[in-house]
Amino acid sequence: MHYLNIHTHHPLHAGETTINAFGVHPWHLNDDATNGAAQVKEHIRAAIRAAGMNVLRDGQGHPFAIGECGLDRLTAIPYDVQLAAFQAQIELSEELGCPLILHCVRAVDDVLRMKHGTRQAWIFHGFRGKPQQMLQLLDHGFYISFGLRHNAESLSLCPAERLFLETDDTPLPISSLYATAAAQRGTTPEALAAQCLQNLSSIGLTQTDLPVRQGSSSQRTRGCEDDRTP
Ligand SMILES: [Zn+2]
Repeated sequence: MHYLNIHTHHPLHAGETTINAFGVHPWHLNDDATNGAAQVKEHIRAAIRAAGMNVLRDGQGHPFAIGECGLDRLTAIPYDVQLAAFQAQIELSEELGCPLILHCVRAVDDVLRMKHGTRQAWIFHGFRGKPQQMLQLLDHGFYISFGLRHNAESLSLCPAERLFLETDDTPLPISSLYATAAAQRGTTPEALAAQCLQNLSSIGLTQTDLPVRQGSSSQRTRGCEDDRTP
């Protein structure tokens, strides 16, 4: 049994596992190499190749996600630049058949519009909203990932088969969040951990491909390729 940490920018703690993810964060779109839709796609494909990941694995699921990517109305990066880069990563997620890890700050309306017609699973990471907004996202097929800062009522109400947990930019072990979340939901950390691992198959990822840190290994394993920011 491992504790799945669906989104972290830090090395894993003992007993944790995560998913690999490749993407360009909206805060980083000023970088010359990652501007423009074509460059964004090629940048991500190159990162996937550099990690030795096999992109085409017919019928076997995929060993990674696209992200984190999305829209952020509180950053100085021009919004039209963000829209183009996000659209490119949506297309990559669809072309490669990978789930997408979403960063969304005050841009839900555009995100819902852009999700329309897509087939891959989208994980709304770091969700802090109220139940009403969560229900709207669930209606649109989203998976919801909760971090240390979250709305307790939303976490209690989220259907187990759509729920993930994450530590994002905090270096803490995720086991304490599983304990908190399990208590809020009236279950055990073990049952919640098993459910979150099971949810991976729903988003097309295979557990056997996950980076895992065993015991006291000093291996530096992190899930998110773009490790500069939340
Ligand atoms: Zn993050």
